[in-house]
Amino acid sequence: MAIADKYGIPVVEDAAEGMGSRFNSQVLGTFGKYGVLSFNGNKMITTSGGGALICRNAEEANQIMWLATQARDAYPYYQHTAIGFNYRMSNVCAGIGRGQMTVLDAHIAHHKHVQKLYEEQMKDIPGVKINRQPENPRFDSNYWLCTMTIDPSVKVKGQENAYKEVIKTAVGGAAGVIHQVDSPVTDCQPNENVEAMRVFMLGKKVECRPVWKPMHKQPVYAGCDVYTNGVEEDIFKIGMCLPAGPYVSDEDVKYIVDCIKEAIVK
Ligand SMILES: *Cc1c(COP(=O)(O)O)cnc(C)c1O
Repeated sequence: MAIADKYGIPVVEDAAEGMGSRFNSQVLGTFGKYGVLSFNGNKMITTSGGGALICRNAEEANQIMWLATQARDAYPYYQHTAIGFNYRMSNVCAGIGRGQMTVLDAHIAHHKHVQKLYEEQMKDIPGVKINRQPENPRFDSNYWLCTMTIDPSVKVKGQENAYKEVIKTAVGGAAGVIHQVDSPVTDCQPNENVEAMRVFMLGKKVECRPVWKPMHKQPVYAGCDVYTNGVEEDIFKIGMCLPAGPYVSDEDVKYIVDCIKEAIVK
């Protein structure tokens, strides 16, 4: 923000998954000029889809809602001096969201609890590490996402078969939509042991997913400028997301950790 303020860059803060996290006691989504929260089905609370924009004052909120309601001028008929889209949340979804506010604290507490269980139960698996926030009171993560890393030296069952076949079904989170590809591999992908772990866990009815592929490695952004030291590519190769939602029980975590241990070749 110091750099953005210096150069007058308006920052829209993507705090989509950050609801309930704090940095220096300040709530995420309140650092930028605007903050964005996601209420997609997999987030801290959900309205089935959609999200919220955090504004700094009533004037900006009014301007945003004007744009989000097709930018209509105050006439009895439709008159437009600007282009706006129909981007507002429906009242039905908003009603769900108001109900969800009553479980927000419980969901945040649950995610922190699940993270703690993972940390305790995974501390002795060689080469496998659960990611945790720095030991510094400035950080207070909601642990929306519990993730682990798998060292390249770890051998996982079925590793020799990783990436041999093109995926023909819908991938996680894609609402059943299949966009068929020709090759099972790309030039930037999780290591074979990570992919083998995903497949092994799926066989145990546990959905684990890779972490996010770096933006600059997305074909759609090929040719865009990129400033990086490569750390995000390294993390993408060794990272994996673990189940952590409100329905994940203590017994589930134990089962998941047991499966991870079972997947590793001794
Ligand atoms: C989930 C998420 C999004 C996407 O939010 P949707 O409401 O699913 O569009 C964007 N950015 C981050 C950091 C997210 O976690």
